[in-house]
Amino acid sequence: MSKTPKPDELSKVDYTPPKTGWMDTPAELKQGMWCYGSKPKNLETLEFPNPRQWSPADEDWKLPENWQETLLNGLKERLDKYRSFKVFMDICVRCGACADKCHFFIGSGDPKNMPVLRAELLRSVYRGNFTTAGKILGKLAGARKLTYSVLKEWWYYFFQCTECRRCSVFCPYGIDTAEITMMARELLNLLGLNTDWISGPAANCYMKGNHLGLEPHTIVGNLEYMLDDIETITGIKIKPSFNRKGAEILFVTPSGDLFADPGTYTAMGYLMLFHELGLDYTWSTYASEGGNFGFFTSNELAKRLNSKIYAEAKRLGVKWILGGECGHMWRVLNQYMDTWNGPADFLQMPKSPITGTIFENAKSTKMVHIAEFTADLIKHGKLKLDPKRNDHLKVTFHDSCNTARGMGIFEEPRYIIKNVCNHFYEMDEHTIREKTFCCGSGSGLNASENMELRMRGGLPRANAVKDVVEKYGVNMLANICAIDRAALPAIMDYWVPGTAVTGVHELVANALVMTGEKERTTNLRGEPLSGMEGKE
Ligand code: SF4
Ligand code: SF4
Repeated sequence: MSKTPKPDELSKVDYTPPKTGWMDTPAELKQGMWCYGSKPKNLETLEFPNPRQWSPADEDWKLPENWQETLLNGLKERLDKYRSFKVFMDICVRCGACADKCHFFIGSGDPKNMPVLRAELLRSVYRGNFTTAGKILGKLAGARKLTYSVLKEWWYYFFQCTECRRCSVFCPYGIDTAEITMMARELLNLLGLNTDWISGPAANCYMKGNHLGLEPHTIVGNLEYMLDDIETITGIKIKPSFNRKGAEILFVTPSGDLFADPGTYTAMGYLMLFHELGLDYTWSTYASEGGNFGFFTSNELAKRLNSKIYAEAKRLGVKWILGGECGHMWRVLNQYMDTWNGPADFLQMPKSPITGTIFENAKSTKMVHIAEFTADLIKHGKLKLDPKRNDHLKVTFHDSCNTARGMGIFEEPRYIIKNVCNHFYEMDEHTIREKTFCCGSGSGLNASENMELRMRGGLPRANAVKDVVEKYGVNMLANICAIDRAALPAIMDYWVPGTAVTGVHELVANALVMTGEKERTTNLRGEPLSGMEGKE
């Protein structure tokens, strides 16, 4: 594994373009900027082609003999099938409005990380094989052949895109480079060219229902540890139910919340909130993953994994689904679910049993985001909250690409935070809401072998956090996405040490005054609450 350069070294980004044109500048696959290749067993589990032992560092990637034919046939099939993809191949005028909007270009200075040029890697092959001008004029028309080095370049750069869609916000034609990346990854998967940090979790989701491969008893066990901690802190014993048929609501959250800090504190938050409400809900130990790792692989695999949550809702006979703080669960659900597996007509229109609010925005998917659910509770005065308990925190909010740009959840998390914390500060307006900067580790890049890439990609987000740290003394970065809770701590430690990361429902639970609770002296992390120092 390569050594990650120190922050002062990495922050000196060189934006000077190479002297040679982009087609004549071969990609150099630098260690620390890529993830390990898929292991054969994971591809076999997913029934994907060409399972074999290989490494991106090898000269020979062990491809089938007819690999060019396979890719070009795959490209043709997708151009015929997806109108948007065909349009995105044709309409770019290379205005450059997207060029400096990608966190990977900002953090690396590599021109092939400009969204326009990333897409051009694929477009050039499209032109060379599927347009008359490209076939006749070749390079003059921006066309090139599909060679082994072009293929390696595709693999390198299409796994340096987090599918965050920030570039699309600035494109006057609405070209969505994330969709182009998704198509390119689909094509690469036809040759068994994935990364193991995607195919491994995807295989786990396929077999075990969650990306970590947690068995049902481990899920229950992990939650029981949290219940013990909650009892120590509040004096209240909570007894959730698992796989209970006939519950009103199925609750699904990303499995990261069940396993690793700070996600576990968010899960404790859900448990405390639902107990206080007396909600008729159940966890599933089978549909135990909100995140959809298929989304980073192919539409077909994303569809397969998405269907699991709905199959479980049907099996248990619930009325509707409540989803936890997750990023891609919401993008998949709102942008693709209806075409792939929906509408979910076997479920009922979600209605809050506490406030009576009918969530009409979820009338097709029947799945409500917990930020909407909790904001509605607060709006109707259904929660007793003591924001002073969070007074040691100066909080800012990171809009997750998938929930913000992908789904438009901007206000609800802010409304919740402002009701449970007294000190909230926004980051620069050009870095939040629909213009939010990605954490740099989404879309299956949150591995340990590509730390340099992640730190480079996280630089724009970190710069905006640093700004509010210096201006207001911010010490907590809140978010509603499990990948953010997994990725941002490393990015903060590297670029803005001293800034912690939290889910919004951890903040809610700390402020929540529960019926029958003992005097609380610590927060969920075991730290003394404001004014309780020395009493814990
Ligand atoms: S989708 Fe995001 S990561 Fe990909 S090119 Fe656009 S801005 Fe960059
Ligand atoms: S902003 Fe749109 S049209 Fe302009 S270069 Fe980027 S993708 Fe092409």
